[in-house]
Amino acid sequence: MRGKAQCESCLMPLDADSGPRESEKYCSYCFRNGKLTYEGTDVTEFTRLAYEGMRKQGMNIFKAWFFARMIRYAPRWRGR
Ligand SMILES: [Zn+2]
Repeated sequence: MRGKAQCESCLMPLDADSGPRESEKYCSYCFRNGKLTYEGTDVTEFTRLAYEGMRKQGMNIFKAWFFARMIRYAPRWRGR
C-alpha cells in the first residue's frame, strides 16, 4: 500500500472514504466535526470500536478482524 494515502488512525485507504472528509490525515469516520471521533489513547479500545463499526457496515468477519488487527500499526498508534 506504499504511496497510497491511508487514514493515520485506522489505515483505511482515503480514496475508499465516501466522505465528506475534513482532514488530510484522517478519514471521515475518525475525524468529524473538527475533531477526532475517538479521543482516547487506548488502541485496544479503538480497535474494538473500529471492528464493531466495520461489522455494522456489513463487512465480513474475517476482513473486519484483519483490518482491526492492522490498526495498531497506524501512525497514530505506532509505538504505543
Ligand atoms: Zn480512519
